Amino acid sequence: MVEKSVILIVDDVPANVQVLASCLKNDYHIKVATDGLKCLQLVAIKPTPDLILLDIEMPGMDGYEVCRRLKADQETQKIPIIFVTASDQEEEEEKGLQLGAVDYITKPIRPSIVSARVNTHITLKLQHDKLMAMAMHDQLTGLYNRHYFFDSADKKIAEAKRHHYPLSLVMMDIDHFKHINDQHGHAIGDKVLQSISQMIKAQCRDEDILARFGGEEFIALFNHCDMNYAYEKAENCRQIIETTALDDLYLTCSFGVVQMSADCDSLENLIKQADMALYQAKEGGRNQVVCADNCLLQEV
Ligand SMILES: [Mg+2]
Repeated sequence: MVEKSVILIVDDVPANVQVLASCLKNDYHIKVATDGLKCLQLVAIKPTPDLILLDIEMPGMDGYEVCRRLKADQETQKIPIIFVTASDQEEEEEKGLQLGAVDYITKPIRPSIVSARVNTHITLKLQHDKLMAMAMHDQLTGLYNRHYFFDSADKKIAEAKRHHYPLSLVMMDIDHFKHINDQHGHAIGDKVLQSISQMIKAQCRDEDILARFGGEEFIALFNHCDMNYAYEKAENCRQIIETTALDDLYLTCSFGVVQMSADCDSLENLIKQADMALYQAKEGGRNQVVCADNCLLQEV
């Protein structure tokens, strides 16, 4: 079953909420806030709204201010907002659109207009979300892709430096993967990539960034994690992969781990160090986790 999109209705007058909700409740999951502050609190609670119908005239914080705040917050700025107002002044409409609203509906509310406009903007939102997901993910494994990794890892590294918390990076590579493709064909090779991706993903937290880095190579960035933690994660993955049969095939992976340090605090250097450690793991006989040299210099 496809999950219904979530619409947040914000209006201080219960009768207005009723009218709006009754036009939309069959097609959407409805949430309601009766003032601006409640709206700001509700958007932070999952499921996040796919669209907000926002009254302008409200006591306390008005709709314009709510819109300004939602657009200033990275977490909420992409949620489409439709203003709902009693005013049919052109300047008001212009102001709303300038603040970043996608549309403007005037009261009295006409149900067919509300549902038509909401449907249009929900369709656009879903299409946008789908395109974003496709641009961020690797098609075969469903993990993040390299492009997304580079984009978001830089931000995480900058944050970790600014707030002085540990951050670690792990590179991993399936051992003798070429054999699989050569001996069993690419269909099995693809299945192996998918299965191993899922095993690694199951060991990661939501906030970790795990990506397919290249052919049979994966990369993970662990925020707020020192080398010990990253090592433990990698070692868990290594053991699970080693002991799990994939269509009678037993595979292994090699891992290189690095923790950010004063000498190694750029993404480029972290990848270089993790890659060197991974190379050592391969040279040392594969199916092992090696920590980069710079980690040994640190007090742990
Ligand atoms: Mg009002």
